[in-house]
Amino acid sequence: MYEFSKEQLAETLADEPRYRVDQLFRGLWLEARTIDEVTTMPKALRERVGEKFSPALRVVADVASDHGSTRKWVFALHDGATIETVLMTYDDRVTVCVSSQAGCAMGCTFCATGQAGFTRHLTIGEVLEQVMFAVRAAEPRRLSNVVFMGMGEPLENYRVTLNAVRRLHEYRGLSARHLTVSTVGVAPAIERLARENLALTLAVSLHAANDETRDSLVPLNRRYPLERLRQACEYWTQTTSRRLSFEWALIDGVNDTELAAAELARFANPLRAHVNLIPLNPTPGYLVRGSSQARVREFRDALEAAGVNATVRNTRGRSIDAACGQLANVTNPTRRVRVAPVT
Ligand code: SAH
Ligand code: SF4
Repeated sequence: MYEFSKEQLAETLADEPRYRVDQLFRGLWLEARTIDEVTTMPKALRERVGEKFSPALRVVADVASDHGSTRKWVFALHDGATIETVLMTYDDRVTVCVSSQAGCAMGCTFCATGQAGFTRHLTIGEVLEQVMFAVRAAEPRRLSNVVFMGMGEPLENYRVTLNAVRRLHEYRGLSARHLTVSTVGVAPAIERLARENLALTLAVSLHAANDETRDSLVPLNRRYPLERLRQACEYWTQTTSRRLSFEWALIDGVNDTELAAAELARFANPLRAHVNLIPLNPTPGYLVRGSSQARVREFRDALEAAGVNATVRNTRGRSIDAACGQLANVTNPTRRVRVAPVT
């Protein structure tokens, strides 16, 4: 349903009066309807184009937690690959977390998606349909934020991510700053994104500010070590004038020490980056625990004392395995979990 740009919709309905394109566009994009529900269009026409605009996602699991304010879906795609999408409702905003790939090739040791490996890139329609599904589920609240923090590395699926961001801005009127792309640190792609002239928000999953520890958590660090990543981050802030944030999953005894806080402050301060802290969610393939709540607070205090703005993010959806990739793994018995070495 969401594979096509507005121009492509118009081509599909080229032999129809122009207002049909507007009806279809309005139905799909503004009212988040399925083609069958766009009843302003005659039934015969809906049937004729119906197959082209059929849904790409089939719900295979639908779970809620946090008293209904967090909702998570596992969707099967046409080829049986599975992805996950999480909707989080707050007092001041409604955020959907979308997947950009089925699986992920980056192999971060602590991440359930990384442990399961890569299946394939998502198409733009598959990405956008996750958002529009959430738009509908969120009603009567209005979906305000989209974060690319589900399964996959969005900057590895660069064109799709970029065009999805553009369409969400142009077609749904979402403010670019309410669109967040999270990356593990694909340095050249960060620089390319900086040149696209979009005021979106960039989050870099840092997790360690020394190369030895980061190599062990994020294999991509061997290709783009911290100094290379720092250059890309600096380029981002200079080119876009946008702040960036670092994601830091606190892992007991690995990256939650005084030393780790000092290294992070030294890395983040010159970039004036904001730090989001979240205790690691346990995954079957990584046998180290997340930090205790007390340790999380101490770590935040150490950062603040060193002049870094840090926020402790709450662990929405922990009880429904809503951390990156977890639920899709649980519900997909064909996926085998590779056990990563413990650092
Ligand atoms: N590939 C991108 C976006 C998807 S992962 C990236 O890595 O940034 C989204 C976020 O979830 C990242 O910050 C990632 O480091 C984090 N994450 C993955 N597994 C986690 C876990 N078990 N506990 C806490 N955060 C995790
Ligand atoms: Fe991929 Fe992000 Fe998970 Fe790393 S943390 S394996 S980049 S999804």
